[in-house]
Amino acid sequence: MGLETNTRQPDPDCIFCKIVKGEIPSKFLLETDTLVAFNDISPQAPTHVLVIPKQHVKDISQFNSSTEDRTLLGTLFQQAAELAQKLNLQNGFRLVVNTGDEGGQTVHHLHLHLIGGRQMIWPPG
Ligand code: AMP
Ligand code: ZN
Repeated sequence: MGLETNTRQPDPDCIFCKIVKGEIPSKFLLETDTLVAFNDISPQAPTHVLVIPKQHVKDISQFNSSTEDRTLLGTLFQQAAELAQKLNLQNGFRLVVNTGDEGGQTVHHLHLHLIGGRQMIWPPG
């Protein structure tokens, strides 16, 4: 069972919370009531976009089976896939959700990496 949604307060030290609030300027490729998408500052491919919930949620392990959580997770993936089409990634793309230290997560505010525009390889590093 993850944290309840109402404990997910903005973190004043979180770089992605600052982007959501506009304290760090960023051009949003997409903004809805629950999420934003913007270019990664250190792109690993011709297209490298981050799709994040506005709410500060540390990582995907914080989600529970509530309708609200399932809707938010589903919306993040659905909007990322829709954005991929808008960004002309019809030939394919990759969605990555690094989780925790061993998962390679460096910013502890949940984000989906939408990566495309080149041939991906497997396994990832
Ligand atoms: P992760 O390693 O999965 O936690 O990914 C964090 C990502 O955030 C990295 O790809 C960084 O390049 C990216 N990042 C860090 N700071 C910023 C920023 N200010 N604007 C955009 N992307 C950022
Ligand atoms: Zn945050």
